[in-house]
Amino acid sequence: MKTLFLAALGLSGAMTAPAHAADVALARLDCGNEPQPVSVASFSDTLAYPDLKLPLTYSCYVIRHGDRYIVWDTGNPRDGEPEAPKTALVDLLAQAHVPVDAVDYVGISHYHHDHTGQLASLPEATLLIGGGDWDAIRAMEPPVGVDAKAFASRRAPFAPWLSGGAKVDPVRGDRKDVFGDGSVVIISLPGHTPGHSGLLVKLEKSGYVLLSGDVTHFHENYDTDGVPAWNTSRADSLASLDRFRRIARNLHATVIIQHDPRDIAKLPAFPEFAK
Ligand SMILES: [Zn+2]
Repeated sequence: MKTLFLAALGLSGAMTAPAHAADVALARLDCGNEPQPVSVASFSDTLAYPDLKLPLTYSCYVIRHGDRYIVWDTGNPRDGEPEAPKTALVDLLAQAHVPVDAVDYVGISHYHHDHTGQLASLPEATLLIGGGDWDAIRAMEPPVGVDAKAFASRRAPFAPWLSGGAKVDPVRGDRKDVFGDGSVVIISLPGHTPGHSGLLVKLEKSGYVLLSGDVTHFHENYDTDGVPAWNTSRADSLASLDRFRRIARNLHATVIIQHDPRDIAKLPAFPEFAK
């Protein structure tokens, strides 16, 4: 009876789980930088910053869980543009002693090109992406307001998964517990795109870390509920910002705004991992 009760709660795995929780660690990978501060006027649909320029960075992350890994976001493409990463994602992984064949998952906060630029360099990994974003990528026709060429370039990084050659596990509903122990959880935060997500990581020494995706892009917007003019839903964006902030407060989490260079030093300098 007791076994049945535990099974009904989905807790039966706890009976056979190892005595020690998996070793979890998190590192940031540099996936590009704007060479000059850029105008952030269009990041506010209430015209809050007509003249503000800010430096912006492009962040990828790798999380170790025991001897398995998940990469979170893949940054800008290596296309020779000024904001392209100086070192390829796979080479950064090698420098951090992460074997590419141990990267079981690649999680993408959303389908924008500065988060999917090096996605196709991990074609063996299971793709984790918000269901709303996966549906938009899989659509046969470009969404309203997106031209055919832009739509094709948005889809291109997903080729290994669109072809059915690699596994996709779209995140449906409110969250996805990647390893089943609460240590790495994708949180649905729609609004920037239909299936936009953030990532919650629980570290033994450092506590909870919340990676923003693009629920917010820089401190000035985070502090004032600023919403970019190009988000797919203003209402969802505000609800997701509110949720993100409450999770951070309730868990005393370290918030890392992925595009804000002022948050880089919240994690140890590459190739060190936060633990
Ligand atoms: Zn974005």
